[in-house]
Amino acid sequence: MKTCLIKMNRKTLLYKTGVEYGDYTINHILGCAHGCKYPCYAMMMAKRFGKVKTYKEWCNPKICKNTFEILEKEIPKLKSKISSVHLSFTTDPFMYGYKDITNMSLKILQLLNKANIKCTVLTKGLLPSKLSKFSKDNEYGITLISLDEEFRKEMEPGSAPYKKRISSLKKLHNSGCKTWVSIEPYPTPNIITQDFNKILNEISFVDKIIFGRLHYNKMVTSYKDYQVYYDELCSMLIDFCKKKNVEYIIKKGTMR
Ligand code: SF4
Repeated sequence: MKTCLIKMNRKTLLYKTGVEYGDYTINHILGCAHGCKYPCYAMMMAKRFGKVKTYKEWCNPKICKNTFEILEKEIPKLKSKISSVHLSFTTDPFMYGYKDITNMSLKILQLLNKANIKCTVLTKGLLPSKLSKFSKDNEYGITLISLDEEFRKEMEPGSAPYKKRISSLKKLHNSGCKTWVSIEPYPTPNIITQDFNKILNEISFVDKIIFGRLHYNKMVTSYKDYQVYYDELCSMLIDFCKKKNVEYIIKKGTMR
């Protein structure tokens, strides 16, 4: 188990997001030990705004030590305006191997649920089984863009192994929780050749799938007919979801 050695203070935590499928969000950690190399958009932004200087610094997460002081003030003030809170868009709430981050995220979820606020969660770590005792309005998700462990080690080096990730999600599904998968950013065949249907079949138990292409990576645009490729995957996804009665969202710019 690892811990965040560096702590920081923040002035605010809950904020409205412009992301397609989000309402409010909370980012109680700066940086992410999963160190994704697609590249990670959150890291690019953190670098641009001078919050971190290097990839190495990004991979050493800093936890917000005044999280609960801030939430005590912000939850009562904002709760009438919030329809849901997403954990998280610019970090990972269940960072693999970080007990202090997991505990803090669980406590945040508890506080938000206590105020009748629904939460959505997305991770490349493991979803704790205790989440099954939380509000059944919550939605728990994992990111899954491949089933190939060698690819994961190269592209998401600090994240949880795929099988463990899927199994933590399935446990929550089996306990009656709403579950979803983000298949984003999905790579083109010049990065990895893989069977899209095989990935879909592994997660056919979920309630919702969000699918999106890979951006900010020259390998994609250098792949001839990448748009045709993404269009085909979208059609496969739509057929699959209709057959299995799974809700789906295709991110903007993925399908023509
Ligand atoms: S898990 Fe998300 S926030 Fe963390 S490095 Fe990967 S893409 Fe970035």
